[in-house]
Amino acid sequence: MANLVTNVETAVKDDPDATAIGFRGQEISYGAFWQRTGQFAAALDERGLGEDDRVAVYLPNLPQFVTTFHGTLRAGGVVVPMNPQYKSREISHLLDDSGAKVVVALADLVPFVEEVVDDTDVEHVVSVGGEHDAATPFDEFLAEDTLDVVPRDADDDACQPYTSGTTGQPKGVQLTHENLGSNASQAASLAPGGVNDEDKSFGALPLFHIYGMTVTMNATLFNGGAYYPLPEWDAQEATDLVAAEDITLFHGVPAMYNDLINQPNTDEFDFSSVRMCGVGGSGIPVEVLRKFEELFEPKIYEGYGLTETSPVTHFNRPDVGRRVGSIGTPLDGIDSRIVDGDFNALDPVEEGPVDEDDDALDDVTGELVIAGPNVMKGYYNLPDANAEAFTEADGKRWFHTGDIGYYDEDDYYYIVDRKKHMINTAGYNVYPREVEELLFEHPGVADAAVVGIPDDRRGETVKAFVVKAPESDVTEEELKQYCLDNLAEYKHPREVEFVQELPRTTTGKVQKYELVERDQS
Ligand code: AMP
Repeated sequence: MANLVTNVETAVKDDPDATAIGFRGQEISYGAFWQRTGQFAAALDERGLGEDDRVAVYLPNLPQFVTTFHGTLRAGGVVVPMNPQYKSREISHLLDDSGAKVVVALADLVPFVEEVVDDTDVEHVVSVGGEHDAATPFDEFLAEDTLDVVPRDADDDACQPYTSGTTGQPKGVQLTHENLGSNASQAASLAPGGVNDEDKSFGALPLFHIYGMTVTMNATLFNGGAYYPLPEWDAQEATDLVAAEDITLFHGVPAMYNDLINQPNTDEFDFSSVRMCGVGGSGIPVEVLRKFEELFEPKIYEGYGLTETSPVTHFNRPDVGRRVGSIGTPLDGIDSRIVDGDFNALDPVEEGPVDEDDDALDDVTGELVIAGPNVMKGYYNLPDANAEAFTEADGKRWFHTGDIGYYDEDDYYYIVDRKKHMINTAGYNVYPREVEELLFEHPGVADAAVVGIPDDRRGETVKAFVVKAPESDVTEEELKQYCLDNLAEYKHPREVEFVQELPRTTTGKVQKYELVERDQS
């Protein structure tokens, strides 16, 4: 297999004048983009860098992120994306662990690099959006000439993102050219008729995270569409962009959709150009999906995936039909099973979703495991973690997702919760997601997260953190009673705390460990 950037080269040859990237009213053509990636690749080559060298990208969603990503791959290198919210302590582990030789950083973030750079293998720091003594400005770093694409094998590394990991050090995930290439092509096929050169893709999902990287950036650029990066999520800016550019593909995490429906001026939003809305990264509460669809035209199609699977493994395909509450069916070429603790494959239910109180779920709920061309090579230099993450069975290498779920006879899968989020209260298992879904149905609730709090008597107790809806005067007692009225007694939150907002990762996941820590301090 060729280097995966050749997928973009096809689009360049088809129409070099077409827009590849639109940013703040400026349009960068495929021809200009290809020229810049060639200059970036040549810049690495001139400095003796190339095959397998790690290039860290410490940027928000900017055109230079896209250039650095594709320029690095073009030179045969490996991209190490770093969350631009990270500080020196966090990037120090990533730089050290990956052995990155170059860091391309936002000028404002260069001081964080400067603090740790001497303890790493970094040879060049490149700044974007400003100058800094310790860095070479991006445009000066670029070479005058371009470098031809350096061929790579399918199983050569292309990208090494780090999993957020709520405990312990983040792990480097080795994604190969085949992993990323196959998943971007798969992701592109999920839009009705496939992503095409008329498409305009909304780019607020962070590029350092695999969902934004594969589904919004690469799936678009592989097919000649235009990608519109947005450096920071802001509901107003997002909807302005959608209307101004006639965005056709809109992907977001549930927190973005929840933010949109809670804006005071939803009647001014125009989503009429959007032909598909996708969601993933965490489960979208059914109530949020319903409210969005009541307010706006497009339907939301939910998918599922992980960094380790490049990411998409399941999707509610618009052409096949969706089941609300499901993550959809496995993508073509991807094997998916629900297994028990001994790796026995469990049976499906007849048709989902099934009420979570139903005893029928006991025998069919287990861990979701995945095999396919999109599954990572492994965690970088972590043999123990790899031994735990994979099981060889039936001639396939299965990856353990750590997510608990079940599936139905039509092959729709349902995620109950993350294994490690399960609360054990006096011997009863509570999946926080079920309680959260119920809270979202209450008119006084704008956002909610449920966690297990250590408790001397019960081991853990259920606690809800709630953001009130604007102007709601709902009380703790009312919410507790509401849960008691609708759920088994042991599941109801014994405590409800009102907060202004929930701590979230940039990809919308609630940082539950932080809520627990906050509660304990
Ligand atoms: P990440 O590696 O950051 O992409 O996180 C992957 C995790 O996100 C999965 O293991 C799931 O726990 C969660 N996730 C992603 N999509 C969904 C979804 N549609 N429903 C529920 N959980 C999801």
